[in-house]
Formats: sequence, C-alpha cells, structure tokens
Amino acid sequence: MRVYVTGNITVDETWSISDIPKKGSSIHGIKVSQDIGGKGANQAIILSRCGIDTRLIAATGSDSNGIWIRQQIKGETLSLLPDFHVNQHSDTSIILNSDDGDNAIITTTAAADTFGIDDIISHMADAAVGDILLQQGNFSLDKTRSLFQFAKTRGMTTVFNPSPVNPNFCHLWPLIDIAVVNESEAERLQPDGVKTLIITQGAAGAWLVRDGQRQFCPAVRAEALDTTGAGDTFLAVMLASSLRRGVEPDTLALTHASLAAAITVSRRGTYSAFPDNHELAALLAKGGK
Ligand code: ATP
Repeated sequence: MRVYVTGNITVDETWSISDIPKKGSSIHGIKVSQDIGGKGANQAIILSRCGIDTRLIAATGSDSNGIWIRQQIKGETLSLLPDFHVNQHSDTSIILNSDDGDNAIITTTAAADTFGIDDIISHMADAAVGDILLQQGNFSLDKTRSLFQFAKTRGMTTVFNPSPVNPNFCHLWPLIDIAVVNESEAERLQPDGVKTLIITQGAAGAWLVRDGQRQFCPAVRAEALDTTGAGDTFLAVMLASSLRRGVEPDTLALTHASLAAAITVSRRGTYSAFPDNHELAALLAKGGK
C-alpha cells in the first residue's frame, strides 16, 4: 500500500516588517526564517515519517530554491517525483508579519502549474487497488477532479483536504472517500455525503462523522506558540494511524493525530516544528482507552 500525494512544495520565507507596505512604498524588513512549505509537501513528509510508503508528485523549479528544497528533503524517506526541476522559479510563499501581529502572504504557483494532468498521472503508473490519492486545494477544479477520477479507475482510496478552499470543490464530494476539513471549509463546501468526514475545530478538537454517527476527539492541551501546520500534521497522522492498523479512520486515529498536532503547535515554524520519526513512532504506539 502506497500513498500518492499530488500538490505543491514551496520555500516559505518569513519576514518581519514594521507595517504592511502601502502602494509605492519602500520599507526595511528582517528575514526571520526560510523553511520548506506547501500543504502537499507538509502532509507527505509527515506521512513518510510515520513509516508510510509515500510519493509526493510536486514541481521544483530550476532556480537556487529548487536545489535548496531537494537538499532539505534528502534526509526524508519520501520519494519526490519527478526527479528533475521544471523550467520555472520554484514556488514560494513570502509571509510578511507586521509589528501589530497582522500578516500578508504572497504565494506563487508557477512551478506547480507547469504540471499537466497527464504529467502527474505518468508518475502514478503503478498505482493499484488499495493505494491512496491525497490532494489539497492548490490545483484547479478540473485538475483536481481529473486526478480523483483517475484514482477511482484504479480502485484507489481518495482523500481530500480542500485547502485553500475553492467554492466549486463542493462538486467533487461524490469522488471522495475521506474528507478532512476545518469548520469554515465544512460550512462553505457542505461535505455531508462523504463516507468518512473529519471536521477539525482548532484548539477544541475534531469530529469524526461516519454512517450517521458523530464522535468527538478533544485536542491535546498545548502551549501554542505557532499553529501553522497543525492541520497538515493532524491529517497526515490520522491517515497514517489508520493505514498502519488497516482500519478506516477511527477515534484512535484522531487521538494519534491530536497528539502529533499538539507537538507542532508547541514549536515555531512549519517544517521545523513537525514531530520527528521517533516522536511519531512513540505516539503511534499508544493504544486506545
Ligand atoms: P492550519 O490550516 O492552521 O494548519 P486547520 O484549520 O486545517 O489548520 P485546525 O482545525 O486549526 O486545522 O487544527 C487541526 C487540529 O490541530 C485540531 O483538531 C487540533 O487537534 C490541533 N490543534 C490546532 N490548534 C491547536 C492548539 N492551539 N492546541 C492544541 N491542538 C491544536
């Protein structure tokens, strides 16, 4: 069993500035950090750290950032496909944090956009019944739908985390086996008919909804320093926990996910805040009540 993740891999640069710049202005700032980012990459990295055979299909550009990304993930066990750079700048998120606690984010998708549907499918040639296709909301509706349709023709299980949200993603629910959404995505996209639905509620916890039954899993109390990446950690560990045990997502999977997300929120950064292989192995070994 293998998980294919299609999505984006980015360089996330965080800058500290006094205030969000006005049109025409020139300001000073301090670059605080540079980290790997992108929801596809985040989820794939954590899945692989949980011991799941994971293939991330995501574009890196032919610039220095593309080389940097590949160097950074050398120590990870996931496969990043394709093994070449595309002729574009690597996708980047510039996160501007102003002194008053506000922020503004600039994100590029040029590298991810160079991959057509057939390019992506060519990297899933050996996908088989029981494998998983996991997607986020970074691709267009058509691309996202075509990839889920391909997965269904192969008998794969489809997992969708529709973030960033596109209102038209509501048309994809008939193709989805497992949906993971936060409260605002649930409200906007109404994923009620999906077989397994997980609705996260930040520091409160998460709901598991299946077969007309709703079960709540409270979050693990943590001193939250930076909640970025909590949702990606939660999704990846929930999925890994159920796949490792060969069961549908259950309350134990949500408990494992909550323990892992509590680690991520208690540290600054995204990639650098994720639990490592040892932490994940220890929490995944915990049994239910
Ligand atoms: P993001 O997009 O910020 O990564 P999200 O909106 O997809 O997150 P959330 O609902 O914010 O997802 O959080 C996912 C899970 O992470 C929650 O169900 C919870 O278990 C955990 N979590 C989030 N915030 C906290 C917190 N402050 N303390 C402890 N656990 C948290």
